[in-house]
Amino acid sequence: MTSLFDDPAAFADDALDGFVAANRQYVARVDGGVVRSTEMTEDQVALVIGGGSGHYPAFAGLVGTGLAAAAACGNMFASPAAGQIYRVAKAASMGGGVLLSYGNYAGDVLHFGQAQLRLNAEGIETRTVVVTDDIASAPLDQIEKRRGIAGDLTVFKVAGAAADAGLSLDEVERLAQKTNYRTRSLGVAFAGCTLPGATEPLFTVPEGQMSVGLGIHGEPGIYERDLPTASELAELLVSSLLEDKPDDAGSRVVAIVNGLGTVKYDELFLLYGRIESQLTAAGLEIVEPECGELVTSLDMSGVSLTLLWLDDELAEYWSAPVDTPAYRKGSSVPRAHRDLTQLVESDTETEQGTDEAIRLGRAASGALETVRRVIIEHEESLGKLDSIAGDGDHGIGMRRGVDAAADAAAEATGTGVRNVLIRAGEAWSEKAGGTSGALWGTALIAVGESLGNRDSYDAASASAAVTAFSSAITELGKAEPGDKTMVDALLPFAETFASRVGDGSSVAEALTAAAAAATAAANDTASLRPKKGRARPLAEKSIGHPDPGAVSFGLITEGLAQTYPFDSTEGA
Ligand code: ADP
Ligand code: MG
Repeated sequence: MTSLFDDPAAFADDALDGFVAANRQYVARVDGGVVRSTEMTEDQVALVIGGGSGHYPAFAGLVGTGLAAAAACGNMFASPAAGQIYRVAKAASMGGGVLLSYGNYAGDVLHFGQAQLRLNAEGIETRTVVVTDDIASAPLDQIEKRRGIAGDLTVFKVAGAAADAGLSLDEVERLAQKTNYRTRSLGVAFAGCTLPGATEPLFTVPEGQMSVGLGIHGEPGIYERDLPTASELAELLVSSLLEDKPDDAGSRVVAIVNGLGTVKYDELFLLYGRIESQLTAAGLEIVEPECGELVTSLDMSGVSLTLLWLDDELAEYWSAPVDTPAYRKGSSVPRAHRDLTQLVESDTETEQGTDEAIRLGRAASGALETVRRVIIEHEESLGKLDSIAGDGDHGIGMRRGVDAAADAAAEATGTGVRNVLIRAGEAWSEKAGGTSGALWGTALIAVGESLGNRDSYDAASASAAVTAFSSAITELGKAEPGDKTMVDALLPFAETFASRVGDGSSVAEALTAAAAAATAAANDTASLRPKKGRARPLAEKSIGHPDPGAVSFGLITEGLAQTYPFDSTEGA
């Protein structure tokens, strides 16, 4: 439970400002995150890490000499937006290319992926290594689907040391990939965590029980079992990780005992002692272990064990000196501050149109007000639905997104549909974070591009806009029908809309029929098993409950059908 905040919605930003104020010798604030305030070498690779806030010292606490060049920091447990990552990476870039590295979560993959495309398009060579250390989240033969938890630290550490040693982008990428492959983690939780401003934790663990296989965003474990003794827990963690060990593992390991939030040092050390005995008994040599809080999950009560299986080159980079706000070892020479005066500015472009185009722009803004009303009405129930098998943030994430989008649209009053929707889409993905935020933001931008700034629209242009919305979501998210995502409601919506318009129905009739199809399809997702997004590792728990993103899509389309052609004074 978080006791201290002014505005819960501004919590992550306010905390980051304070973090920078307390650590100016290491970091400087840029839009979307922090960059090193100390000198870097010309032409070195810039390691840019990031993810949601609420995991300190990941991610901002790991920016400094020998580690990351910058961190893009999203809202609480929500990915930073693509635009933020792009700006942070640009500020960090030294001319030697950028390596993006972050935990494998759908929202982060979407946003970092978009940022990577944009950076490469501008000639800043950018690669990605996603961290996939959590052995509970997918079997070994699907290692690329695993989530990233405390193994973030080993991957970032090796990549950061290699980048600062002046290695090429190819080499830094190769070492990061190898470290990720040789890093395995497993965590357990005794109690869930509570988002700032919320009164209920994201999940609870029954009295006397422990949840095994936790995520770091309040995702509950994969299964529950009786609370073990410290020795039994050490045995469970060690034996599970040894069973999962990589090919060519060797016999030297880094062991990291990580506290998730409220399990404090005495307990962590006790557990570390038991773990060390077991690893030694298994014939392993432990190299420079860590025991403390390294990747947390707000106030979650839980611990995880990470093993990095070393070889000679990884051992060298693991042991290299590092000096960051939260993680220091060895002795590194203090660096001078660098000049950070010219950081990236966001582009602002506005378009004027005829009176009629402006009136239609206002109607688009009115449509976003409808979406906002729908989301406010259902914010809480959408959050609850997402907490069954996801991370509980769908209500709050949609709210943040639509608030930002509707406000941006209102500010764009006086311009046409294209400009209103593009501003709204950028704001949505920037402020919402999360998977749904990236998808909705990108899809609104696509609708804006499709409709353009015109004086009138007909049913065919509406149909083209629906297709643009739908393709944006499937191209970026790559979900297939039946994966249990919003796509399962979106495709029936798009098909129904197109076929009604094709039959000569009015936009109003087509919208009503399509919204009904979306709602029915959203309800039908209850029987599906999730294959994409954060709910996937908890597939069983999700069965019997509809997908939150599909449900919100159905509700939004119903709201739009009821208010079409949208009150053009509403967004004024
Ligand atoms: P996050 O998953 O980042 O916590 P939200 O909770 O806001 O974001 O949104 C979750 C919803 O996003 C899911 O219920 C699902 O409908 C949708 N979703 C997740 N991944 C995809 C994807 N790849 N394509 C389409 N929709 C997706
Ligand atoms: Mg969620």
